[in-house]
Amino acid sequence: MKSNMTIKEKLTLSVGVLVALIVGLVVLSAISLQLLTATDPTSPVADYGLARALIMLLVFGALSIIVGIWMLVWLPSSINRPFMQLSAGINEIANHNYEVELQLTGSPAMEQLSANFNRMAHRLRDYHHSSLSKLKVSKRYIETIIDSIDEPIVCLDPDCRLFHINHEALDILHIRLEDAIGKSAQEIALRNDLLRRLLTGRTAVSANDKKAEPLKIYADNKESYFQVKYLPVRMTGPDGQVTENGTVILLKNITEFHQLDVAKTTFISTISHELKTPIAAILMSQQLLTDNRVGALNPEQKELSDSIRENGERLLSITGELLNMTQVESGVLQLKPHITKPIELIDYAIKANQVQADKFHINIEVDYPKEKISKLYVDSEKIAWVLTNLLSNAIRYSTENGRVIIGAVQKDEHHILMYVQDFGRGIDPRYHESIFERYFRVPGTKIQGSGLGLSISRDFVEAHSGTLTVESEPGKGSRFVVILPV
Ligand code: ADP
Repeated sequence: MKSNMTIKEKLTLSVGVLVALIVGLVVLSAISLQLLTATDPTSPVADYGLARALIMLLVFGALSIIVGIWMLVWLPSSINRPFMQLSAGINEIANHNYEVELQLTGSPAMEQLSANFNRMAHRLRDYHHSSLSKLKVSKRYIETIIDSIDEPIVCLDPDCRLFHINHEALDILHIRLEDAIGKSAQEIALRNDLLRRLLTGRTAVSANDKKAEPLKIYADNKESYFQVKYLPVRMTGPDGQVTENGTVILLKNITEFHQLDVAKTTFISTISHELKTPIAAILMSQQLLTDNRVGALNPEQKELSDSIRENGERLLSITGELLNMTQVESGVLQLKPHITKPIELIDYAIKANQVQADKFHINIEVDYPKEKISKLYVDSEKIAWVLTNLLSNAIRYSTENGRVIIGAVQKDEHHILMYVQDFGRGIDPRYHESIFERYFRVPGTKIQGSGLGLSISRDFVEAHSGTLTVESEPGKGSRFVVILPV
């Protein structure tokens, strides 16, 4: 059957053929009936006529059924075929296969439809190629910018594959571009120690939510220091939803700053050390001056001599703090631990602060359990220094006639908790972390100080695998808590 017929033609043809068959069947039946009724039933031709009529009706009936069934199968499939082809074509386009072409025939309308479809596919193909090449140019442009930055940069995709890496990073990682791009960073890290450190640092930084420690790298027979930054790549989708799409690892060369920092630490350490002897000599002379054997001082002279002592002691404490800080910063902090009872440390801190407490009429209370408490295995000099510093702060930042509590409790089987509590001015919650930073002082603090005590205290406690934290409310006082393993 001619396949390039329109749907209308096909329907007309099918209905026409069916009607013709039915009409034929009816006419044949009518003629046969006519002939049979006109024939004498007893005559010998009657049987022959009946048989012939039956055979003709059967043949015609069978032919009609066959044609009917064939129409039933052919008509829907021939109507459906172009739609199926169109649907398959649309599917290909949806799957970005713009090479698809339709050849629908059968009617001018179908030919028009396939021509339009092919034109659309062609346009999409051109657009796709042009935007792809534009994208390639933009990608190359961005890569060139990243390559021109003289700090190492490593870009990881969400599956932790190396998406891009600039020349500086290739140099320090000692890998080739072709061995890196598109490869799993974890797999390369198995053979590359530095990349392994970078990946481990990424997990550690995101887990602890803090800044990474400077990274020390030996290259070309010299030490270099890098500050590593992990920048998450956050992308906003068309629905406004933000998704994380990998990480950019940025290494900032801070070797120069590190050298300056070392020079600064050495300078502070030398100066503090050199200052200690003359300050001690000044204090010694002041003490001799107050000795009556040298001669009695009049009230004004006594006042001046007291002022020399107070300031001398302050200078000595500042140089001590600076020396401690340089020890921590230069990494030479050496602990000499031995078994110590917590009460011994508390007694030391009280003795060191008693004069100051008496001066401000502050009552120091001790909270110590009657039952047995574990001993500590710590560098008692360092931990006593921490408690002395906390107690000194508690006294200094309390009002006159106030009260201060210093105590220790068995926190659990493996930890001792020591605390210093005052009922003074308290600290605003937004400064609870900053007060542990070097040289930080709460804005508006009038009492003299260096802003170093708490930061050194935290370093000392952390060097013992302990923690130093603060609980405080403005106007109600502060409680500094030291937890140490036993
Ligand atoms: P310093 O006391 O020498 O300034 P610290 O490091 O010991 O240095 O303390 C940092 C800052 O924290 C202080 O300047 C002060 O503002 C605040 N601070 C410390 N202890 C207390 C306290 N017990 N009560 C109120 N503020 C305190």
